[in-house]
Amino acid sequence: MSNQVNNKSKLKLAIQKSGRLHDDSVRLLKECGIDISNGINKLKADATNFPIEVFFLRDDDIPQYVEDGVADIGFVGENVVFEKKKKVVITDKLGFGKCRLSMAVQRNEQYTGIQSLQGRKIATSYPVIVADYLKEKGVDAEIHEISGSVEIAPGIGLADAICDLVSSGSTLFMNGLKEAEVILQSQAVLIRNESLEPAKQQLLDRLLFRIQAVKKAKNNKYILLNAPNNKLKEIIALLPGMKSPTVLPLAEEGWSSVHSVLNENEFWDIIEQLKAAGAQGILVVPIEKMIV
Ligand code: ATP
Ligand code: ZN
Repeated sequence: MSNQVNNKSKLKLAIQKSGRLHDDSVRLLKECGIDISNGINKLKADATNFPIEVFFLRDDDIPQYVEDGVADIGFVGENVVFEKKKKVVITDKLGFGKCRLSMAVQRNEQYTGIQSLQGRKIATSYPVIVADYLKEKGVDAEIHEISGSVEIAPGIGLADAICDLVSSGSTLFMNGLKEAEVILQSQAVLIRNESLEPAKQQLLDRLLFRIQAVKKAKNNKYILLNAPNNKLKEIIALLPGMKSPTVLPLAEEGWSSVHSVLNENEFWDIIEQLKAAGAQGILVVPIEKMIV
C-alpha cells in the first residue's frame, strides 16, 4: 500500500532508449543531480535521489505516451513533436539534439526555391511537417513516406527530392545531394501531459528549476582578473555581473582582483575590451550551476 502511494507521487519521465538523444538526456539528469540506476536494457529505472521514474522508449513513441499520461513528461526532438501532433505541452528547450529538417535535391539540380518542387516527388520520414510546409507555401507535390535511409531515394529514382534531418550535411554529400532549404530548426524539448496533477506539477517545477540552473551555467563563465586601481572604474563598467562585480584588494599595493560572470554571447568582445582597458591575469572558469 505505502509502495503504491510512493509510486503515484513519482514523476514519470520518458527518454530515448538508445540513439542520438539518449546520452545527452541522461547527462542532463545527472547535471540536475538526479542519478538513475543503469537501466540500459530495461524498460524503466528509478532515480535514487529524486522522486522520478525514467522510461526508455523509441523517440517516436514518446509524444503518445505523454499524451496518454503513461509518462508525465518526456525529452524528445521538436521535429518528432511537430510530426506526431499529439496533445502535449512544450515546456522547455533543452539545448541539445540540435539539427534541422531540410529539403535536399541532387547536386546538379538547379534549385530556385520551394516552387521548383511543384508537381514533383519528395521522399521523407516527416510527411506531416512537409505537407504543412508545402501547403503554407502553396506548392503541390507528391509526398512519399519512407522510414529510413531517405537520402538514397533520389539516387534510385524513387523521388526528385528528399526532406530529412541534417546536422553536418556529410550524409547528403556522400549521396550526391545538396541541402536546398531549411524547413525547421529543431532541438530536444521537454514536453508534458496537458493536465498534470498538482503533486506532479510541483515535482516538474523542481526539475525545471534545476534544468534552468544547468542551462544558465552552460551559457555563462566566471571571470577573474587583476586590475590596476586607477583603471578599476573603467573595467567595472565593462562587466555585467550577476548583481555587480566583486572587487578584492590584492596583496600588491595599487591592484585589485575583480570577479564577475559573463555571458557566452558577449564573452570575447568584453575580454578584448578588458585587456585594452588594462586588465591582466584574466582567468575564465566554467560554472557548474547558476541560480539567479
Ligand atoms: P529511435 O530508435 O528512438 O526511433 P531514431 O533512429 O528515430 O531512434 P535518432 O537518429 O537517434 O532517432 O535521432 C533522434 C533525434 O535526434 C532526432 O529525432 C532529432 O531530434 C535528433 N537529431 C539531432 N541531430 C540529428 C541528425 N544529424 N540526424 C538525425 N537526428 C538528429
Ligand atoms: Zn525514431
